[in-house]
Formats: sequence, C-alpha cells, structure tokens
Amino acid sequence: MMQQKFKVLILGGGTGGIAVAARLMRDGLGGHIAIIDPSEFHDYQPYWTLAGVGLVSKNSSRRSMTSVVPPGVTWIKASVKSIDPDNREVVSADGQRFSYDILVVALGLTLNYDHMAGAQESLGKQGVISVYQFDQLDAAREAIENFSGGTAIFTMPPVPIKCAGAPQKVMYLADDIWRRRGVRAKSRIIFASAGAAIFGIPEFAASLSKVIARKEIETWFQTKLVGVRASDQVAVFERVTNGEVIKEEVKFDLLHVVPPMSAPRVIKDSPLASDEDAQRGWLAVDKHTLQHLKFPNVFGVGDVTGVPNSKTGAAIRKQAPVVAANIAKHLAGQSDFLRYDGYSSCPLITDIGKVILAEFGYDGKLMPSFPLDPTKERRLYWHLKKDLLPTLYWQGMMKGRM
Ligand code: FAD
Repeated sequence: MMQQKFKVLILGGGTGGIAVAARLMRDGLGGHIAIIDPSEFHDYQPYWTLAGVGLVSKNSSRRSMTSVVPPGVTWIKASVKSIDPDNREVVSADGQRFSYDILVVALGLTLNYDHMAGAQESLGKQGVISVYQFDQLDAAREAIENFSGGTAIFTMPPVPIKCAGAPQKVMYLADDIWRRRGVRAKSRIIFASAGAAIFGIPEFAASLSKVIARKEIETWFQTKLVGVRASDQVAVFERVTNGEVIKEEVKFDLLHVVPPMSAPRVIKDSPLASDEDAQRGWLAVDKHTLQHLKFPNVFGVGDVTGVPNSKTGAAIRKQAPVVAANIAKHLAGQSDFLRYDGYSSCPLITDIGKVILAEFGYDGKLMPSFPLDPTKERRLYWHLKKDLLPTLYWQGMMKGRM
C-alpha cells in the first residue's frame, strides 16, 4: 500500500490529540495534519463519575469524532499497530502506512481489567460495577440506585491511573445518595486501596481524612484487588499486614472496580517507550518540554506520557499549548521551548454539591487558580465541575482556545 505523508501525524483523537490538533490549527501551523483513531466517538470522561451515579446522562459525555476533529485536519479511522521512529513510519492494523515530519503521541492508557482474575467478565453482574468504561455506566447507575444495603467496596489500584480521585468521588457520591435514600444505616462502605494513604498530597489527604471520618467509611490501605467471583459475590484481595502479603476473600453486595492501568502495548513495544524504572513503558518525553528524549521530532501529550504528574484532562489543558508551541519552535529551528510545570487538577467531589478543588504541579506543589483555601469543600467548585468545566472543554480546549 502507498505511504501517506503528513506534516504532523497525531496518534489518538482523545482529549490530548484533539486539543493539540485544534491548537496547531488555531496557531496557523501550515501543512497537512492528520489524526489516527479507530473510535467513532470522543468522550468527556470527567462526566463518567457523575453519569455512573445518575447525576447526568451518559450521552452528555459523548460526541461523534467527526464533530470534534478540527476543520482542515484529516481523520484516519484506523488503529495504530506499530511505530518506527527511526524511519518515521507508522503502520495501522489495516495495513496503511504513514510517514510524518512531526509525530504527536496521544494514545491515552490501557485499562487492565484482565490483571484481576474474573474481573472483566464480572462487570455489570451481581453488583460488580465500574465507572471507568462508558459501556458500564448504565449498570453502575442501576446498581447504585437499587442498592438496598450491605457491604459496598470501592477499590483503588496502584498508581499511576487516570484521575486518581475518581475512585473516591464515586464512593462519596454513592454514600450521599444512600443517605438520602435511607439505606446508608444498613450499609458498610469500604475503601480498599493499594496505596498507603487516602491521597498523595498531604494537604488534600488531611481534608479527605475528615470526609472519610464524617461519612464513617472504613479504609483498607495496601490492599490490592486481585480477583472477582461475581457468582458468589466474592472479592479477592492481597493485603500487606506486618510486611507480609496475605490473600483474603471478602463477600460484597456492591463492588466498584478500578483496574490497574499501563501504557498501551503499541508504545511499550516501540523504541519510544521509557526504559527508566519510574516510567517504564510510558512515552519517554522531557517532563517540561514534552519532546521525546531520543527522537526530537516526536512529542507526547496526556495520559501516555511518562512524566511524574497526575494523569488528567486538566493536565492536558496546560500541556497542549506547550506541545503546539514547541512543535512550531522545533520546525523553525528555535530552542527556547515552552515548559509544562506538571499542573494537574482533580475536582474531588465529596458530596452532591460539594467539591475540594485539588490543583497541584510537580513535586506536589499546590497551584490553586482561585484566592481561596484550596483544601476546603465548596459549593462553588461543584458548579465549576458539573456546569462550567464541560463547556470550557467543548468550546475552549477542543477548539484550541485555551
Ligand atoms: P484519551 O482521552 O483516553 O484518548 C486516547 C485516544 O486514543 C482514544 O480516542 C482512543 O480511541 C485512541 N487510541 C487508543 N489506542 C489507539 C490505537 N492503537 N490507535 C489509534 N488510536 C488509539 N480528568 C480531569 O481533568 N478531571 C476529572 O474530573 C476527571 N475525571 C475522570 C473520571 C473518570 C471516571 C475517568 C475515566 C477519567 C477522568 N479524567 C478526569 C481523566 C481524563 O479523562 C483523561 O486524563 C484524559 O481523557 C486523557 O486524555 P488522553 O488524550 O491522554 O487519552
């Protein structure tokens, strides 16, 4: 098959891919730009936490890919199978070959439900739910709406994952919904986390510990979900106790599963993957310029990047303008690249109508956008999360305006 050539080839048309494409078009970078993505749809995933408990419709999180690909950018509906950066070539699963001057990797990450025996096939059955997949949102909403009491376990895998706050947000919302419905008194809620603390940044961990205490939620740390038997509603955990790993089976009535996550196989298997321990398998980019460490004509954006930030759409809002500007500078032979500071944000929903807006950069530095104590729950940030941010996403980020 003939090789198709593009000035900028973007792998993935999710948050990062579309944000960079829109920015490049807005900045007036000439030449042919293409996005490769097999998906018919583009999802605003931050809405899945709300859709999974029935506070917004799942369809409000989803638009067609054609409606978000910026005018003038070519969408190639195909799946990337291999990347050969030495020869500047990408091959798709259907055998098409592409070459590029600049490659932008925006492939997101892979959800590894298959790392927990029985989890994938249990989803949607016997109270086993997950808001991490669009096609599981109805089952999650129904299970939470119909919960009549018992043991509800919400899991958190080892990091990195996308939106590390989401596993808690869905739990706090479920708690609030069950209190309003009068079933909370008949329930035991457990947060089973592979981590050692409720949140990685001490200032927010302190606020969240108060939320946990107020809601009388049990926390199990260093506890990893390793298997699910939906038929008898049993979750299998590995727990670290006194330095020893112990396997434990726990009966549940509702189990919210968040899978371990990793870089996509196509990146892991390519010369673009990092071989450093801390970021092994993820895209090896400079954490400030987002330029590849070995291939200067390759840039990365979003969840796929091997940088020590927190993987969110909010991070991409700050990364996309940096990537677009640095591509233009690279093409012009300039070296005064823009720098991404590690900014990420997680609107931690603690109740219906209450949010702690956690904003931070590299090394856990607090980076609040507003002159208010960032560790406090506020109604204002609930409106920001539910009403304002989606509009900023579709009308701002997806159009290269912010
Ligand atoms: P994605 O948006 O996932 O896009 C990756 C794209 O790559 C997809 O379109 C996919 O089809 C495509 N792709 C994959 N494999 C291939 C292939 N082989 N070939 C071609 N294309 C491929 N962020 C926030 O900022 N705030 C929040 O409150 C928040 N809450 C969240 C709640 C949940 C439940 C979830 C799941 C996520 C949440 N996020 C939140 C995180 C945010 O949605 C992600 O960080 C963001 O979407 C990452 O963008 P991305 O472009 O890196 O990946």
